[in-house]
Amino acid sequence: MDLNVNFLPVASHLNWDEYFMLQAMMASFKSKDPNTKVGCVFVDDNNHQLSMGYNGQIAGIDEAKLPWGNVRSVPIDLQKYAYVVHSEANAILHAKASLHDSRCYVTLFPCHECAKMIATVKVREVIYLSDKYAESVESQVAKKIFELSKISYRQLTLKPALISDLGSYLGGMLPQ
Ligand SMILES: [Zn+2]
Repeated sequence: MDLNVNFLPVASHLNWDEYFMLQAMMASFKSKDPNTKVGCVFVDDNNHQLSMGYNGQIAGIDEAKLPWGNVRSVPIDLQKYAYVVHSEANAILHAKASLHDSRCYVTLFPCHECAKMIATVKVREVIYLSDKYAESVESQVAKKIFELSKISYRQLTLKPALISDLGSYLGGMLPQ
């Protein structure tokens, strides 16, 4: 009998970048924002998660009294932009440990307001999925803040097969 029968060659389906970006994507799925759902995860050098967040209305208040729409032709107090807390802000505000030298995985490149907070808590690297507002002044300011703060940033491209494999995998976990 081969005593090494249980020594099988194995490999993870995910590298660390993919693992944490999928967590950020899962966090975004919890957002109620009908137009832009964003999620993020902060991670330390041991690849342990430090904090997680998604964009949502201010915790603890009756959000039924607040707008979720993105129409900018009405006064600011009737727009979501006056009230919604971004995913990065939520994760930073609720972190249980220091985010110094951490990596931030986020599904959308941070706005300048979140960039200020990311730089203030001295995050080391930002890894993002989408940069769909790259031409906006907010995004340009965020990049300037990151460059002045020596925070590196890079876009992650997920393989489409990863998402379809994950869908099949999760489907297989459902009771038959
Ligand atoms: Zn933001």
